[in-house]
Amino acid sequence: MTEHHARKRFGQNFLSDPNIIRKIVDAIRPAVGDTIVEIGPGLAAMTDPLVERLGHMHVVEIDRDLIARLKERYTPERLTIHEGDALKFDFGSLGAPLRVVGNLPYNISTPLLFHLASFADSVSDMTFMLQKEVVMRMVAEPGTEEYGRLSVMLQYRFRMARLFDVPPGAFRPAPKVTSSIVRMVPLPPDQLGALDEELLGRIVAAAFGQRRKTLRNTLRDIVDEQDFAALGVDPGLRGERLSVTDYVNIANHVARKGAPA
Ligand code: SAM
Repeated sequence: MTEHHARKRFGQNFLSDPNIIRKIVDAIRPAVGDTIVEIGPGLAAMTDPLVERLGHMHVVEIDRDLIARLKERYTPERLTIHEGDALKFDFGSLGAPLRVVGNLPYNISTPLLFHLASFADSVSDMTFMLQKEVVMRMVAEPGTEEYGRLSVMLQYRFRMARLFDVPPGAFRPAPKVTSSIVRMVPLPPDQLGALDEELLGRIVAAAFGQRRKTLRNTLRDIVDEQDFAALGVDPGLRGERLSVTDYVNIANHVARKGAPA
């Protein structure tokens, strides 16, 4: 088969280190009977050992050349190939409980994580490789520089753990940055607690939209001084000081106030 030239626009860096591949597949712990979908199988570095253990799995891939290779390599009984953009893919259509894995294209990692979060109800766990810097933001604690909108919105919905790092030399071509493996497990729906998740999302986006400004400024259009007093939140703080629970409390206070009596 001819050599595949990595396409930058599809964020292609292919895993080539067999020890790292084994370590990632072991961390996924695939078991016969699991419904697993891999985002961006590429040249099948992870797909091969996963299909080997599972018998059958799903993949979502956007690159036509890579899709053609996958079709040559696997029968439909072993691999269901969903051709297209993972950002638009309906992960709910594969049934629940779904396990999602992938060495994600780094150029779309944030929108992809938000898209995947909307399927949390159908998912049992997700194991991804991402830029280490993004994983540090996902798992960041309040008060740290990495803590932001991504941390709050993902920690609201998932329990997350950074498992281990992967050096650039494990890929061809080698990326410029170190990568990390992260596991995400959805929290039970009754632990989430926001009355209006769209409102929570708007408040968090506003609070982190201008990081240097205080909550009094960033949330001016949504939360007034009386609300801050009722909530016991100091409006002179910056958004990075508040916990996920603080944001849920603010959103619920505003939701209750806005709701008809
Ligand atoms: N899993 C392979 C590996 O570990 O060697 C490839 C990983 S590479 C970082 C990312 C993969 O995602 C590529 O196969 C790329 O074509 C695919 N991809 C990029 N953008 C995508 C999108 N929007 N939807 C689905 N797949 C995409």
